[in-house]
Amino acid sequence: MTAAAPVHPLAGLAFDNSYARLGDAFGTRVAPTPLRDPVLLHVNGEVAALLGLDPAEARRPEFLAWAAGSVAAPGSDPVAMLYAGHQFGAWVPQLGDGRAILLGEVVHAGRRWDLHLKGSGPTPYSRGFDGRSVLRSAVREYLVGEALHHLGVPTTRALCLVGSPEPVQREVTETAASIVRVAPSHVRFGSFEVFASRGQREHLATLADHVIAHHFPGLAGRADRWRELLREAAERTARLVARWQAVGFVHGVLNTDNMSVLGITLDFGPYAFMEAFDPGFTPNHSDPGGRYAWDQQPGIGQWNVSALAQALLPLIPREEALAGLDAYVPAWQEASAARMREKLGLLEPRDADGELLDGLLRLLERHRADWTLAWRALGGVTVAGMEDRRGFARLVGGGGDDAAAWLADYRTRLRAEQSDDGARRARMDAVNPRFVLRTHLAQRAIEGAQRGDPSELDRLLAVLRRPFDEQPDRAEYARPAADGGAPIVLSCSS
Ligand code: AMP
Ligand code: MG
Repeated sequence: MTAAAPVHPLAGLAFDNSYARLGDAFGTRVAPTPLRDPVLLHVNGEVAALLGLDPAEARRPEFLAWAAGSVAAPGSDPVAMLYAGHQFGAWVPQLGDGRAILLGEVVHAGRRWDLHLKGSGPTPYSRGFDGRSVLRSAVREYLVGEALHHLGVPTTRALCLVGSPEPVQREVTETAASIVRVAPSHVRFGSFEVFASRGQREHLATLADHVIAHHFPGLAGRADRWRELLREAAERTARLVARWQAVGFVHGVLNTDNMSVLGITLDFGPYAFMEAFDPGFTPNHSDPGGRYAWDQQPGIGQWNVSALAQALLPLIPREEALAGLDAYVPAWQEASAARMREKLGLLEPRDADGELLDGLLRLLERHRADWTLAWRALGGVTVAGMEDRRGFARLVGGGGDDAAAWLADYRTRLRAEQSDDGARRARMDAVNPRFVLRTHLAQRAIEGAQRGDPSELDRLLAVLRRPFDEQPDRAEYARPAADGGAPIVLSCSS
């Protein structure tokens, strides 16, 4: 047994700023621009624990001053990271942290965490924008990190949320906010693309070896390490997208600068959890062509991995880069099949499972069934067909002929593996959530935070941390937005 790792005050966090040490080619040292009259709206105890940060620390004024960009933590070395990217398919030669700064890396309990202050003011990469985040988008990012994490989807999370009366001009005037975002790494596909496009092979190699040293130590020093890094990125991206698809999550802006080389969900803007099932759904009103719609995400993941493979060509022979890219499709197929099989409650793969799934998706689409509720209700279907008519059947048009035909096929399939109703339901309830972060729920938490009242944010977080539990007293949080509710417009501008 090992002793529990000690918890530290802010001043005792163990910084080791390996990215900043890479040098000026990889970013620009820059201090945050403090937020005026900051208010600490929320602290994430789970993330504080990951960092070994004493939760009592959050009550001290120094903590707020730090999270608002006024004071630096001892040992940190803030740097805005350089990257480039393909935005909506178009090459942009230079992006970079325009409204965020990597404060430093903290090592605790053997794990390394980037602390990234988002909404921290202008940097050399701001391209004329204000470097701020609005409270609305900060709350949405704060919430979704917890929602995805507790759904088992790799993601950045946030340590705390700070509001400020400072005005920020978007479509309307809003107020500023910051979050301290926490992730194992913020290195993006675009972090490699920028050096490839400039012909800077040495920097490319340095960055690849930096990622390998911290995240794939087993590859360090191997001759094939860069090829293997690409293969890892391809497979992790494929597995990540399969998880998004399973929970109906649509990222909204899958540009290569928003793609983590570690395969974690990164950079939240106009994301949503799909409600009424529509394969072409995208929450992003700035994406009228649906480039990043739900059903496009698997292919876009592959497109983005091909951009990464292209960027790594100076390090990897072409044939091997192609092989690395080729790892995406089988990884996607395997992960997707596994996710969908478990959602269906099936134990063993069978040849016709793809058809069974397609039939279900057609049924859900035809009846515009709520993605989350329909899968959850499917767990209540019994082999004998004696289940409550208010369950799955109600969500697919009251159980008409099309639903009856599909359910007959499903029951046949369940009988073929002697499926036990109770055991299957328990398995399905552990993968088909009852609660997801619905846009209207986030909106209610935002409106509270805008009034200076984070209590709804806190309640919602508590629900989202147990997404697979029934939580009968929280039934309201499981319901889709009421019909006719004013649509909430989400766009890239946040
Ligand atoms: P995003 O679509 O949020 O991933 O942002 C794309 C790029 O624009 C990134 O380089 C951001 O840092 C930058 N950016 C977005 N919003 C702002 C802003 N308000 N001020 C400065 N840079 C921004
Ligand atoms: Mg981004």
